[in-house]
Amino acid sequence: MQTVKEFVAENKEALIRDIGRLVAINSVKTEPVEGAPYGEGVRKVELEAMEIAKELGFTTVHDCEGRMAYAHVGPEDKFLGIIGHADVVPVTEGWFRDPFEMFEKEGYLVGRGTGDDKGPLLAAMYACKYLMENDIPLRYGLRVLIGCDEECGMSDIEYYLANYPEPVFTFTPDAGFPVGHGEKGIYEADLVSDPVDGKIVSLFGGLASNVVPDKCTVVLKEVCADCLRKAVGESDRYEISEKDGLVTVVAHGVAAHAGMPFESVNANGLIADLLLKADVLESEEKKAVEFMSRVMENVFGTFEGIDGEDGCFAPTTLICGMVRKQEDGSFLVNVNSRYNTSITAEDIEKKVSATAEEWGYHVANCDNSGPFYMEPDHPAVKLMCDIYNEVTGEDEKPFVMSGGTYARHMHNAVSFGCEKPSEKAPDWVGGCHMTNEGLSIETLMQAFEIYIETLIRLQDVEF
Ligand SMILES: [Zn+2]
Repeated sequence: MQTVKEFVAENKEALIRDIGRLVAINSVKTEPVEGAPYGEGVRKVELEAMEIAKELGFTTVHDCEGRMAYAHVGPEDKFLGIIGHADVVPVTEGWFRDPFEMFEKEGYLVGRGTGDDKGPLLAAMYACKYLMENDIPLRYGLRVLIGCDEECGMSDIEYYLANYPEPVFTFTPDAGFPVGHGEKGIYEADLVSDPVDGKIVSLFGGLASNVVPDKCTVVLKEVCADCLRKAVGESDRYEISEKDGLVTVVAHGVAAHAGMPFESVNANGLIADLLLKADVLESEEKKAVEFMSRVMENVFGTFEGIDGEDGCFAPTTLICGMVRKQEDGSFLVNVNSRYNTSITAEDIEKKVSATAEEWGYHVANCDNSGPFYMEPDHPAVKLMCDIYNEVTGEDEKPFVMSGGTYARHMHNAVSFGCEKPSEKAPDWVGGCHMTNEGLSIETLMQAFEIYIETLIRLQDVEF
């Protein structure tokens, strides 16, 4: 029998070649066409990935109606899942070369999708090849799920789970090593007031739900600019200008991702606080702005009863990514919460809605995906972390995070690589979603080895 290390070395060239085959296909989601629910590029990459799976020797390669594909070997009643994705995010400015023509530079594979997630997906697929070629007895089958809509809402896994059987245990090579054994819940909602008359002509802050905004602009009529200047005092976070009887205030905050807002300064909150401090608003409008200010008083969720501790995750956070005065005169306050297991998905909806209603707001749109958590001493989690440390010589511990991977959609799942916490990439190398996205070949090869060991040793774990 070939050793794992020999196999990895022998298959290195082929793995890199096949990653290049997938990177060469621009698989950014586009408008659906017949037989291609996520557009032609995504369909093309799905078919190419299926082709590679056939070449590697999987006994079944199945297309789940263009939404996902799977490659399977071994028992079908109980099987392990490995889920990655072949769709990518749009390209950004400033690439050295064509982002869809993979090239090597200083030990990195560069191209859109190399690290997220075409490289890791194929490393896991190639790992299965070792078990197939060396006739490793399979107590659990192996099923590689090829996702096609990870970047735009994960409707692919929802479709799969509604129509196909779930693996007994799944890992997704679409985050970091060693093992992500929990992810916070993500709740997002638009809270909208009734139309309000008053001094605010326009209000516009933030561009996305999942980012604490660094800029918010309000235009006011019939207010005293000096009252606002006085309220600003020495702060350098505001710019105030006057034109044609209107006063414009621009606030500058400090941006941050919704999952890590601790050092942020929310520009929306700066505006709300200033309007209240200067006391330039009246009645209903003042109440509407008081609500905004209250929401942004801190980043831990000032809605009654959502800010509990659970001992597994960091505290629940809640930020306001966007505020708007809408055309009909109503105010929109978009909130984005990353919540821990001290509250359920149903409860957070009820509680946010109840608090909003007290202030004259209602929930207009909401999106909610509950947290997942596997115990860090679960045999599979422990085993995978041990294998990572054995192969790399490191001493890392399983972690929880506020971001979201496929794992949150399954009952028994973790994220597993292949970014290494210890890796220091050269400055020119882009991370996932960035310009000059690159994947370290050394890390890829370690991941390849780790995935083989994992698939072999997971056969002994009871699921
Ligand atoms: Zn990804």
